[in-house]
Amino acid sequence: MAAQTKQGLFHESSKYLVGGVSASTRLNKALQEPFFMSHGDGSKVYDVEGREYVDLCTSHGASFLGHNNPRIKEAVARALDMGIICSGETEYQTQLAKKICEMVPSAELVRFASSGTEATMYAIRTARSYTGKEKIVKFEGHFHGIHDYATWSFAPPLDKAGPEEQPIPFVQTSGVPDAIKNLVIPLPFNNLDVLEKTIKARKDEIAAVILEPICYNCGCLKPRPGYLEALRELTRDNDIVLIFDEVLSGFRMAPGCAQEYLGITPDLTTLAKAVAGGVPLSVFCGKREIMEQVRPAGPAEHSGTYNAHLIAIMAGIAALDQISAPGFYDHIYEVGNHLYDGIEEIVGRLGLPVRLQHLGARFSMFFGMDPNVEVINYRQSLGHDVNLMLNFLRAAVENGVYFHDYGGRPAHHGFSSAHTIADMDRALEGIDAAMQTLV
Ligand code: PLP
Repeated sequence: MAAQTKQGLFHESSKYLVGGVSASTRLNKALQEPFFMSHGDGSKVYDVEGREYVDLCTSHGASFLGHNNPRIKEAVARALDMGIICSGETEYQTQLAKKICEMVPSAELVRFASSGTEATMYAIRTARSYTGKEKIVKFEGHFHGIHDYATWSFAPPLDKAGPEEQPIPFVQTSGVPDAIKNLVIPLPFNNLDVLEKTIKARKDEIAAVILEPICYNCGCLKPRPGYLEALRELTRDNDIVLIFDEVLSGFRMAPGCAQEYLGITPDLTTLAKAVAGGVPLSVFCGKREIMEQVRPAGPAEHSGTYNAHLIAIMAGIAALDQISAPGFYDHIYEVGNHLYDGIEEIVGRLGLPVRLQHLGARFSMFFGMDPNVEVINYRQSLGHDVNLMLNFLRAAVENGVYFHDYGGRPAHHGFSSAHTIADMDRALEGIDAAMQTLV
């Protein structure tokens, strides 16, 4: 059989898959084609033409334990031996739920689904059911999946976003009923004054505030000192459910996720990606009193043929066992600091306008922005130079480092526990060569 080329595969995929891809963002804007892989192993991915890359996308954060993780594979094999069981309870769902309650500060009761999108949908429904209110506060630039209640204002164009302190809900896709915009209140992240005013004025309508406590999706934005503390107090005092969407931030920096790291306990939490080492599993969990809204304990529906599928549950147990093992985060921080110090050295030496923001195992680079000025909200992130970023990402791939492009939006990148110092040295060589093309 003739060797496959990326162009050949794209030509073929375009005949049968819409746009030639299985998810819209897989058409890589930097490469002008999908990144066709043959396989991944540990810290590396391999393209269909046989080239090896240090992987700094890590399946958008799902492969936090590396590709081909032996213990995840063993766990999946056990589930296969047990009959690929789904839609029935085993002792293992309980085991994993217990482990999550031990690790994640807000978790008192747990339910499982398959994707992050489902988890935020159920968390929002549960909050509405508990409070009897309907509106949701979310923050510009924060991403919570693509169901109809979430796909708002995560990347609004400035000319459609309204005034900075009173953003207009912007729907990110066609096909969502216009009426839903009346249920979404977008706010600027890290602006306490606007948050306070909004909650005080609209507390009787707001069921929940949902946010990424560390907003990796918008370039690793961190909350300003005191901001989350005030948000916690405001929501508690006004009968509003606080939802931390930790689908991406979960386990990146601590075994108890961003909520442990930041010392703020939300009412509900959503998890996915890292929680099962790359096997589709998501979680919504939280305070007993609120989670008891969910059927059969309460009136809010949550069900599904694939909920808590045994393959995913067994993988989740194997993933959290590894994440909670002593020394796990020593390795994450050692390898991460090596990479981040290296990038800062390259940026400084070449005098490039690149702002690096990072926490734990994920990071962002804002091209065309002052290396010394922290980016703290979405509108500030729009100051980045999309072309410079895409040129860098293309050059990095040419130099053996795989980053995803996120369609030119401020992107999040990251590594896994399988990455070593030697991998990061290789990645830094590629990043250095790619950055030199920008000078
Ligand atoms: N929430 C956050 C913070 C995410 O980063 C994502 C996906 O990137 C989602 C929700 C949606 O998760 P999924 O892609 O599994 O539906």
